[in-house]
Amino acid sequence: MNDLNLTINGKPYPTAGRFDVLNPATGGVAGTAPNATLADLDLAVDAAKRAFVDWSQTTDSERQAACEAVAAILGDHAAELAALITTEQGKPLNGLGSRWEMGGAQAWADFTAKLSLPVKVLQDNNAGRVELHRKPLGVVGSITPWNFPVMIAVWHVLPALRTGNTVVIKPSPFTPLATLRAVELMNQVLPAGVLNIVTGDDRDVNLGAAMSAHPDIRKIVFTGSCATGQKVMQSAATTMKRLTLELGGNDAGIVLPDADPQAIAEGLFWGAFINNGQTCAAMKRLYVHESIHDAVCDALVAFAAEIPVGNGADEGSVLGPVQNRMQFDKVTRLVADAATRGKVLLGGKPGDGLFFPPTIISGLRNGDPLVDEEQFGPALPVIRYTDIEEAIAAANNSPNGLGGSIWTSDVEAGRKLAARMECGSVWINKHGAIQPNVPFGGVKASGLGVEFGDEGLAEYTDMQAVFS
Ligand code: NAD
Repeated sequence: MNDLNLTINGKPYPTAGRFDVLNPATGGVAGTAPNATLADLDLAVDAAKRAFVDWSQTTDSERQAACEAVAAILGDHAAELAALITTEQGKPLNGLGSRWEMGGAQAWADFTAKLSLPVKVLQDNNAGRVELHRKPLGVVGSITPWNFPVMIAVWHVLPALRTGNTVVIKPSPFTPLATLRAVELMNQVLPAGVLNIVTGDDRDVNLGAAMSAHPDIRKIVFTGSCATGQKVMQSAATTMKRLTLELGGNDAGIVLPDADPQAIAEGLFWGAFINNGQTCAAMKRLYVHESIHDAVCDALVAFAAEIPVGNGADEGSVLGPVQNRMQFDKVTRLVADAATRGKVLLGGKPGDGLFFPPTIISGLRNGDPLVDEEQFGPALPVIRYTDIEEAIAAANNSPNGLGGSIWTSDVEAGRKLAARMECGSVWINKHGAIQPNVPFGGVKASGLGVEFGDEGLAEYTDMQAVFS
């Protein structure tokens, strides 16, 4: 049984209450997690605040070395953490599952360790010298979702530590176990109090809400739904917290008439169904030109039909269950509605427990709930279009703006269309491929600020101009 403790001020911190964490593949209990109180949260924030005094004064190279040590310890324990992720999240060990997530977590940690924000000299002449310094903020509160628990934790924690901040992280109540263990491990190579963790079941106490309003937290980095992100922004206002909000997406893919249906089928499938569609920047709507609509649907269905779905602990599984009942019910509702409006080409009916087969439904359009809402699950609506202007307008007709993609054999034409997509990332002939050196973030309701690269690192700092 996985019964991990909080880590506060470098030590295991047992709480009075605990809650069950379920294995979505079996419905059984995967482990229990601490149900922290608001007083426990205060202790964690206080530990981080006290640790900031020394940590913020460490040299750049000391922090780089510490972050490299974090990457290394994650790598050393990748197999153990992958098994925990699969048990609580449901994704397979195999393929683009939990081992892949751990590979990403380690790579991101290592890359972030090597980033730096040197002092910039803005002016140095007879009139004087002006330097621009980047200073850490203080205590950063990290709030993570349930889809990529360890990778997203690394995306939050590493840039915060690298720039001299200290952290209190709070994972999703659905997937706290791997993060509890990852933080325990990272504490083996970090000074006490620099990285602390609280977990809770979000029932009587909402730790995320308390963090967003906490007077001693200087920044919140939040990844999750648009609705919760808006609440974070509201409650952060009174303490003027810095915010990075990575929120929901409803990414569109547009297939141009010159694309080769066979050649793009695999990329389309993984663009939409990676992590069972439970990915912020997954392709959630597919617009296909009428001249190749049927050929694209046939190729996509043929590829998807061969994907083995099962318990992620089985090496043969390539997709697992939906992570939780709430999400499963949402996908079930949207697919049942879409089936009355369009044509179910694959899947369409819920399986046992939380299993839902890859589902592809054509004949839909903007205005249909499966097209307009973020399904965050294994169901892709396909929309036929005649004119590219119509497709671009429909793709942009969304409050979200996280990612988008163009599928074409003319990459230059794809780049021109990319400029017209209202989203933070556009891919040509792929979807959702993110990199640690490239800023990633949403426009419109999909968020505020970016992660990754120098621009992402800078979000964990205040600027200070020094005139001499
Ligand atoms: P969620 O908003 O339900 O929960 C996210 C986190 O917020 C959890 O840790 C939760 O406990 C916490 N929380 C709950 N109430 C809160 C409050 N009032 N104040 C502060 N925190 C609170 O999201 P989810 O269902 O876990 O994740 C799925 C969503 O996340 C999808 O919309 C997806 O698109 C989005 N997402 C975005 C990105 C991105 O980078 N843009 C990445 C992954 C997921």
